[in-house]
Amino acid sequence: MRLLEYQGRLLLKEAGIAVPRGAVAETPEEAYEIASEELDGEAVVKAQVPVGGRGKAGGIKIVDSPEEAREVSRSLLGSELKGEEISRLLLVEPVDIEQEFYVSVLLDRGAKGPIVIFSTEGGVDIEEVAAKTPEKIHKVRPDPIMGIQPYQIRELLYGAEIEDKVFKGFYEMVETLYRAYENYGATLVEINPAALTKEGELLALDSKVKIDDESRALDKVKGILPQGEERRDKTELERKAADAGLQYVELEGTIGVIGNGAGLVMATLDVLDQKGGKPANFLDVGGGADADLMAKAYEIVTEKEGIEALFINIFGGITRCDEIAKGIVKALEEKEGQVPLVVRLTGTNEKRGREILEENGIRAAESLDEGAEKIIEKSST
Ligand code: GDP
Ligand code: MN
Repeated sequence: MRLLEYQGRLLLKEAGIAVPRGAVAETPEEAYEIASEELDGEAVVKAQVPVGGRGKAGGIKIVDSPEEAREVSRSLLGSELKGEEISRLLLVEPVDIEQEFYVSVLLDRGAKGPIVIFSTEGGVDIEEVAAKTPEKIHKVRPDPIMGIQPYQIRELLYGAEIEDKVFKGFYEMVETLYRAYENYGATLVEINPAALTKEGELLALDSKVKIDDESRALDKVKGILPQGEERRDKTELERKAADAGLQYVELEGTIGVIGNGAGLVMATLDVLDQKGGKPANFLDVGGGADADLMAKAYEIVTEKEGIEALFINIFGGITRCDEIAKGIVKALEEKEGQVPLVVRLTGTNEKRGREILEENGIRAAESLDEGAEKIIEKSST
């Protein structure tokens, strides 16, 4: 789960890292109110989209009055930034920046452990800093069990040769950020820039946070976000699928796809694509799906708007073809206004599965190729 800036900010704040005052607006009016009531008129208006480099792309604007906040918000909301629609803005109090720094903790999968990075070259693309001036990037690798040690934080900050006046502040920020990384099951917590203000305060001016979806801490993270927030990036059907424990992804075509196992589903999409078909979505029922789960999968996939035909491709291993067939029949009985359907079944209990389908007037395709061709015939692509 990748958090938007304002969500990551809530986590940082909860962890004890200072962030500028601010609030989220979804309309120009809200932006006006935040600027006039919660901030002192002036504000930095920041597009909340899940991409970096917003500043350069025009997604960060400094405004001098609530009226200007409203104007700027009007032009930003609903527009696109780097291909992402802007539906929310974060308004924060502008600060006078003395210097910008970079601080992050991330999981280095190659090294199987965390890595802490610090640089005095903040506020810019860190990859660029690493490429042009690698000597400006400082790293330490804490032991994943022991956690970060005081000497490692000192090594990191001495290496960067930061001024004495900010040493204590950054020591605490690194320590706190590392704790947040551990406590929230993060794979990345990044502050870029961490700003030293003219008043001598250290503030996290931006946040980029990724949480491991399998982490035990996920509920804790969700508890910090406003209710229902963590799922706002999902569509209605995606939510339904997630609730049923199903992997479901939406696409733009006309053919619904259900399969079992990520590999088989990907192969199905590839074959459809090669033959000129356009998948509308795909759903992976996983291993060992029973009739009820199959029926649920059918319901979700066919509910998608614009769907014209449904292709079910099952390889029976621990999944039994007869259970799948029963699920399909059950779904067809429950669902009105069905779409044309092609089923391809092979593997465990295939014979029984085919019989169940045939008893209900469905002849299963013999091969993936045959099935794909049939379903494409039944849909406009
Ligand atoms: P990004 O471009 O997506 O990484 O967005 P950031 O939130 O990091 O903002 C980009 C840049 O805008 C920062 O590096 C700062 O230089 C600048 N910026 C952000 N907030 C403030 C602020 O409160 N005051 C000033 N002067 N500059 C800011
Ligand atoms: Mn940034």
